[in-house]
Amino acid sequence: MNNVYFVNSRAIINVKDVNAGKISFFNSELSLVNKLSMLIKKSKVLDIIEKGDIVAIKMHWGDHGTMKTIRSIYVRKLALEIESRGGIPFITESSGLGLFYDRTFGLGRLKIARENGYTWETCCAPLIPLDGIKGKDYVKVKNEEGVQLKEVYVGKAIMDADKIISLAHVKGHPRAGMGAAIKNIGVGCVGKRSKFNLHFYNEIPEIIANECNQCGKCTQICPENAIDINNKIIINDLCSRCYGCIGACPNKAIKVEWCNAKDTNIRILDCANAVLRAKGPENFGFINFLIDISPICDCVPYNDHNVVQDIGILASKNIYAIDVASFDLINKAPRLPDSVATQKSGDVLSQIFSDSTGADFRYIIDQLKKDNPENLKYNLIEIERL
Ligand code: SF4
Ligand code: SF4
Repeated sequence: MNNVYFVNSRAIINVKDVNAGKISFFNSELSLVNKLSMLIKKSKVLDIIEKGDIVAIKMHWGDHGTMKTIRSIYVRKLALEIESRGGIPFITESSGLGLFYDRTFGLGRLKIARENGYTWETCCAPLIPLDGIKGKDYVKVKNEEGVQLKEVYVGKAIMDADKIISLAHVKGHPRAGMGAAIKNIGVGCVGKRSKFNLHFYNEIPEIIANECNQCGKCTQICPENAIDINNKIIINDLCSRCYGCIGACPNKAIKVEWCNAKDTNIRILDCANAVLRAKGPENFGFINFLIDISPICDCVPYNDHNVVQDIGILASKNIYAIDVASFDLINKAPRLPDSVATQKSGDVLSQIFSDSTGADFRYIIDQLKKDNPENLKYNLIEIERL
């Protein structure tokens, strides 16, 4: 059975005990930041770290205007806990698809990180783009065991790290249903090329000849000189699947076919498994924040009302068990009024996107069941409330 440890985010203080002088009203042990330390200690999730290990903290830095990413005080606490075990932490995040926006290349990502409160000073560790300055630094790994993706492109900073701690904000996601540890590793630790593969069925983007007026805008942006505009084709061997040309075309003449929700989830799991295998699953630890559980992922430059109340933090050495436990806890929690959760019935996280993208984390659960039903079993150990 896979152990998943849990600290509740409530801070219950008995005023009668305060008045009787038994406890202090200013009890710092009630702080979730300090409970995170307790969780790390009890779960032993950082016990994988040896002196001198370079440790990646993989998290999401959000976009300009995203308000509900994991706060820097927690990141700092984690970095200091890693240091206290002799590890050398760095904080990392990958580039999104495209070339236009800050979140699509390493330097832009750093700008967003600073705006959202993540700097070396606030987090006590340096921030390093996971796949380089332009989002092109990745390593191809074979993935024969993959259901749909037989090769995966893992970010260089992840390949270079000795240990990886996934620090995931759990929330809804329009393509995955739920974004948590599996998505943090499967999407967050791979380069643009794999991001393309897990979103689209196409081998490469395709120029629709009769919609292209040969304006040349795509060739100006393409970082690989992969577009032969005379023949209106993209050259497979040169194209890095960055998605830049698609956004650049004023005529929408470059097309891709989106994967359906089920295949997207299977591909996310393929990528996550490939990253775990490439580094060795024993070199990972997982921490899921069930705090600010908003309906849409941190890639968008806003946040809607949370769908359920804050729950707490989970930690585990098993990526599948921690996500299944997170999914179950959220679906069991009371829905918050004036949120998207109150507009639908059924399990909260399975219903948010049911009538739009159809995204549902249950596709991942179904695949995990096929792979090994043991992956779904977990033992939830609540660390005693103070
Ligand atoms: S940007 Fe679009 S219309 Fe212009 S050359 Fe490229 S594919 Fe053709
Ligand atoms: S042709 Fe390929 S490499 Fe060039 S911009 Fe388009 S997706 Fe990127």
